[in-house]
Amino acid sequence: MSRRIVAAGNWKMNMTPAQARELMEKLIPLVKSDDKDVIFCVPAIDILPCLELAKGTNIKIGAQNMYYEDKGAYTGEISPVMLRAAGVEYVIIGHSERRGYFGETNEDINKKALKAFEHGITPIICCGESLEQRNQGITIDWIRQQIKTAFMGITDEQAKTAIIAYEPIWAIGTGQTATTEQAQEVCGAIRDCIAEIYDIPTAEAVRVLYGGSVNAKTAPDLFAQPDIDGGLVGGASLKEEFGDIVKA
Ligand code: PEP
Repeated sequence: MSRRIVAAGNWKMNMTPAQARELMEKLIPLVKSDDKDVIFCVPAIDILPCLELAKGTNIKIGAQNMYYEDKGAYTGEISPVMLRAAGVEYVIIGHSERRGYFGETNEDINKKALKAFEHGITPIICCGESLEQRNQGITIDWIRQQIKTAFMGITDEQAKTAIIAYEPIWAIGTGQTATTEQAQEVCGAIRDCIAEIYDIPTAEAVRVLYGGSVNAKTAPDLFAQPDIDGGLVGGASLKEEFGDIVKA
């Protein structure tokens, strides 16, 4: 089964609205693609200007986080209703920085994923192990637990449209990309886990990305692996290099 490749950029907490406009203008001509989904996950304050500039291009705008309630007294949060009304189609859920710095649990991530689907936003659900866990040999068990909890209550039809990003914590922002074998092994295990929870057609439809210091050099081999359907890219998504990653 052929799955559409995804090249998703995670701008993290970078770019003022003016800088975001400048970066969009620089990247729009470089990331043109008919056969890949190109997604820029931008800071909340940049969503509107980026949506405006993305009109008529192949770029989709995503958020980096959202809350699991529609509205109310949740100071500082952004709701799926707001994102959807603005025109956002994707949201990163459970990035390891959210888990690590802001205490997000697998259960929070499940609630957010359910809410995103309820509002027609595609979640990019992140999972990944620490270096300690990898050294202990518990990577696959850990990832399976993250995936099983994240997908609780999600229907097979919804799961088919989900995007999962495998991001080993030790590879994020460190310049130390996982080897293609390491990345393929875990992405394959994620697909097997989805097949166990649902069935083979669901596992074959879901898109599994690798993230962690992806650059223009490492992207071609990584994206050629049978269970890797593209990348979630941090640092390199803020540079012209992202154009080369899209081409990979
Ligand atoms: C990320 O934060 O999702 C990420 C993969 O970052 P980087 O590419 O900078 O390692």
